[in-house]
Amino acid sequence: MSGTPAPFTADDYRARMERAARSAAEAGLSGLLVAPGPDLVYLTGYQPVATERLTFLVLAEGRDPVLVVPTLEAPDAAHAAGAPALTLRDWTDGQDPYAVTAPLLDGKGRFGVSDNAWAMHLLGLQRQLPDTSYVALTEALPMLRAVKDARELERLAAAGAAADEAYDEILKVRFAGRRESDVAADLASLLLRFGHSQVDFTVVGSGPNGANPHHEAGDRTIERGDMIVLDFGGLKHGYGSDTSRTVHVGEPSDEEQHVHNVVRAAQQAGCDAVRPGATCQDVDRAARKVIASAGYGEYFIHRTGHGIGVTTHEPPYMIEGEEQPLVPGMCFSVEPGIYLPGRFGVRIEDIVTVTESGGRRFNNTPRELAIVD
Ligand code: ZN
Ligand code: ZN
Ligand code: ZN
Repeated sequence: MSGTPAPFTADDYRARMERAARSAAEAGLSGLLVAPGPDLVYLTGYQPVATERLTFLVLAEGRDPVLVVPTLEAPDAAHAAGAPALTLRDWTDGQDPYAVTAPLLDGKGRFGVSDNAWAMHLLGLQRQLPDTSYVALTEALPMLRAVKDARELERLAAAGAAADEAYDEILKVRFAGRRESDVAADLASLLLRFGHSQVDFTVVGSGPNGANPHHEAGDRTIERGDMIVLDFGGLKHGYGSDTSRTVHVGEPSDEEQHVHNVVRAAQQAGCDAVRPGATCQDVDRAARKVIASAGYGEYFIHRTGHGIGVTTHEPPYMIEGEEQPLVPGMCFSVEPGIYLPGRFGVRIEDIVTVTESGGRRFNNTPRELAIVD
């Protein structure tokens, strides 16, 4: 799992853009407007910083993709891996970028827009084109990036393996007497050491802080007897990792061990439910049922999982009511937890991909409650 994977080529990006334009047409849309962010990276390999200067990729079936870009950023855009598959349409300071973009939309129709497009840019277009309407891209095409090809799966597997190496190493550090933020810094530097280019989160939730799933890491000094939720991830070669394990400083109590056992069984049940044709909600139900049967249902306070790819959180979501069927190549987390307010929390999380024969995990470190010092 070492070495740098071969980069995606202009042909790869051309194929992604064609598929996106086709999917948009099938969904009844006139086209897609893609702003700087994960959709643009996925479709073109171009990753500018989003600013007040408008950048939009305009995709419509049967037409060449056009990237509207500020003149001063055009040289960078021209160097993106997907640039040979794009027509660049630049605009200079002082020009109205919305007037430059408007003719590409034909003045009417309904367009899918990247979730993270800035409001000022969409409002600027609406001013120019009062007869167009817009829908959030993940609402219109939630599965646009959800099914990964073999080379994306290779990257996600490598990111998972790197996160696993970071976990193996963090078990060797000192916990008791150090602050959560110290352990979080250890986790961040381990992710970078094992090839991540970006660290997205390093949760260290010790004792009562572990009962708050959104707690990242703070000044609390870790004590003997603490349960500690560790949840960390980021990007390696442009694809995400995200894994959780819960550890204990010294020997756990019977109750702590029991709660951990319940979460571990729930996580296993969730992974076992992954197969083509099952739905996202089936995965959530399988994990939740184990926790509810053990009497902790009210303490499992979030969805069971989320997709992962060029970002660490994206569709599909493993949640009640999501009837999207699982398709080979989808990748998502399975991460049930139990959170006992004021006391402690437990979460166990692996990234799983759907294969023809069931789920395959990209995280493979032991899931037993690890004892740390
Ligand atoms: Zn304890
Ligand atoms: Zn996580
Ligand atoms: Zn997650």
